[in-house]
Amino acid sequence: GIVLGIESSCDETAAALVSTDRQIIAQRIASQTEEHAPYGGVVPEIAARAHAEKLAPMISDVMAEAGLELSDLDAIAATAGPGLIGGVMVGLVSAKALAMASDVPLIAINHLEGHALSPRLADSSLEFPYALLLVSGGHCQILIVEGVGEYRRLATTIDDALGEAFDKTAKILGLGYPGGPAVEKLAKRGDPGKVPLPRPLVGSGEPHFSFAGLKSAVLRAKESAEYCDADIAASFQQAAVDCLLDRLRVALGPHNDIPALVVAGGVAANQTIRSALEDFASANAMRFVAPPLALCTDNAAMIAWAGAERLASGQNDPLDFVARPRWPLDPEAEPVRGAGA
Ligand code: ATP
Ligand code: MG
Ligand code: FE
Repeated sequence: GIVLGIESSCDETAAALVSTDRQIIAQRIASQTEEHAPYGGVVPEIAARAHAEKLAPMISDVMAEAGLELSDLDAIAATAGPGLIGGVMVGLVSAKALAMASDVPLIAINHLEGHALSPRLADSSLEFPYALLLVSGGHCQILIVEGVGEYRRLATTIDDALGEAFDKTAKILGLGYPGGPAVEKLAKRGDPGKVPLPRPLVGSGEPHFSFAGLKSAVLRAKESAEYCDADIAASFQQAAVDCLLDRLRVALGPHNDIPALVVAGGVAANQTIRSALEDFASANAMRFVAPPLALCTDNAAMIAWAGAERLASGQNDPLDFVARPRWPLDPEAEPVRGAGA
């Protein structure tokens, strides 16, 4: 079978065709970096308008490249949340219209489920259950993925997401938006031991993350004019790694029978973080799986794949499915002070 995936929850507009046997048949992606750059962050109205302009031609392009008609599809999957509601609605309404016109099932995908299942698109040998570190622009969570639609959250952030901390650090250092790749590049030339930065909540024994204090410390280090930017970037990245490893140790402590550690989300593109996680996994007798870089940051192949997984488990959604600006992967998770979805 073949699934069309549509992604429009933040500042990437994307469409992709993925087969149920894990082939990415065609894909298009457009980042709105230039549109938002003057504002130093994503402006929701500009994002929604850009999605509306770019999405329809992209869908036509992938269908034409694959030589397929809508009626050849087995499902149309679109991100239905969480994210910026205007953009989500552009993608979801397009998917509904196409599904209705061609009588193909609609699958409303949780964007986080797209990230969570993306490693299985790249690696057919990755079975459930696995431990997932989901690190993106809006989220920082540790979950046990028990199956499609079965997510148990062990930890979340009480303030900023890790991608957000990278973006704020980039802004403080004048590196512009989006910040993650720029901080990573600059950090290569710096000394990770040079700038004394805090490791929030490390040693607290609770599994949750906090990055607001780290960001403030980065700001103070910059304002002190005592350190060069490369050393600040490298020290920030090292502090982030130390926090991730310590929190994983605490969260996964009671779950030492989980065979694989998986990382997903935009921050999973970071090589220093990937190799630290790989070492952690091997020290804990776990397999380590990380998707290729292009599947880490937002894309439509992961949405199509999540649709394929849902289709295989017999699920689809009604055409009046309502977009959800907030949509936790684990609705049962205990609320945490200060934490979002
Ligand atoms: P969410 O998935 O939580 O809704 P999002 O979709 O905006 O948020 P993603 O596209 O998954 O987030 O990830 C984008 C984030 O990843 C940004 O904060 C960006 O700075 C960060 N990022 C991307 N590449 C890297 C990198 N190489 N190193 C560190 N961070 C990175
Ligand atoms: Mg983005
Ligand atoms: Fe994302």
